[in-house]
Amino acid sequence: MSNHTTAKTKSDRAAWLQGPPAACSVPVNHVDHAWRLVLLGAPGAGKGTQAELLTAQLGACHLSTGDVFRAAKNSCNCELSPAMTQAVAAMKRGELVTDTTVLSMLKERAGCLSCLGGFLLDGFPRTVAQAQALEDLLKQQNVQLDAVLSYELPIEQIVERLSGRRTCSVCKAVYHITGRPPKKPDVCDHCGGQLIQREDDRPESIRVRMEAYQKSTAPLIDFYKKLGVLVEIPAHGSPEEIFERTLKILKPKTKQAAATGECCCCSSHKKA
Ligand code: AMP
Repeated sequence: MSNHTTAKTKSDRAAWLQGPPAACSVPVNHVDHAWRLVLLGAPGAGKGTQAELLTAQLGACHLSTGDVFRAAKNSCNCELSPAMTQAVAAMKRGELVTDTTVLSMLKERAGCLSCLGGFLLDGFPRTVAQAQALEDLLKQQNVQLDAVLSYELPIEQIVERLSGRRTCSVCKAVYHITGRPPKKPDVCDHCGGQLIQREDDRPESIRVRMEAYQKSTAPLIDFYKKLGVLVEIPAHGSPEEIFERTLKILKPKTKQAAATGECCCCSSHKKA
């Protein structure tokens, strides 16, 4: 697609994964349009995979709150704060981390929201309180969301996807044992890291996570519908098919924004 700049070098996301004072080692690529997107969908609907494909296509940084908690859990060199220790324990049980902890973690990293490369928020917001706090933070940073992409899939397909999902222990690339297998079993195509099954992708955690999603995250669909930024995307089929669907939806939004100078999703406000 001509109006999207392909990212040449992937950011190590140090500013996001480690928080301040860490800075990303790869400078932000020039992008034609800094996309600012939220990805919604039940666990297993394919948000992480789409975020990875979108990052490569659009140059925007993949900001996953789950990756921050997993990075904290795996950094054995430093002692975790009491809040982060509780967050990691909640994550292991498949429960949501408290809004207070998630929001203080996000506020520390607010600079990532005004990054010139744009962002793809994955796994945040997960509650209406988080969505409201995000709106406030975006206002403070003087940036606006282009769209909220909601990936939709029936529950049986979600369970099948989650139980077959494997993640690279080093670069966090996402695979599926049948749907998106690595070239070499259990080895990451990108960095050669070992592929693992996330603790929270085990059956007992999947059930808890689905309940948490229905209770806390599904109401976000109405929240963003009311704001006029929600885009519903059927999440069946291969990752490539879902990606094509996503790009088809985003392409006219770029043209619309360029023509009017307005936000890609609604005509009520101008782009920052
Ligand atoms: P994810 O990789 O997005 O599925 O997140 C993995 C786990 O991290 C979740 O099951 C939660 O325990 C925790 N988590 C990540 N993001 C959030 C959030 N925005 N609010 C609450 N808990 C979160």
